[in-house]
Amino acid sequence: MPTAENCLFCKIVRKEIPAREEYRDEHVVAFHDVNPQAPVHVLVVPTDHAEHLSAFTGAAADGTAARLLYTASEIGRRLGPGGYRVVINEGPDAGQSVFHLHAHVLAGRPLGWPPG
Ligand code: 5GP
Ligand code: ZN
Repeated sequence: MPTAENCLFCKIVRKEIPAREEYRDEHVVAFHDVNPQAPVHVLVVPTDHAEHLSAFTGAAADGTAARLLYTASEIGRRLGPGGYRVVINEGPDAGQSVFHLHAHVLAGRPLGWPPG
């Protein structure tokens, strides 16, 4: 598992790797997915490294957890006026491939349910 030093999304947070950013503050960064699965596909990440949702616990995480969801909803409302979906994948069954907590915001087309 990556440390903050070699983590892909930490590198995007530190601007060592370029990304098309939608929003940034001291707690979260939102940027477009490099391989979009819908016309709108934005990832929202906490600026502090956390491997996945289950590592994101404790009182110190409360504010950041709220900001992560709030930012996802802001992006969704702005870029997906017809509706949007927020997804967090964790572990092999869910297909997590980058081990820095991130919320996907998907919009811009009808989204099937249940997801694949
Ligand atoms: P996961 O499968 O872990 O839930 O989602 C990881 C997401 O990160 C994937 O949708 C993938 O396309 C995206 N991704 C992987 N590498 C990069 C990158 O270098 N830049 C950006 N913007 N997105 C990436
Ligand atoms: Zn990281």
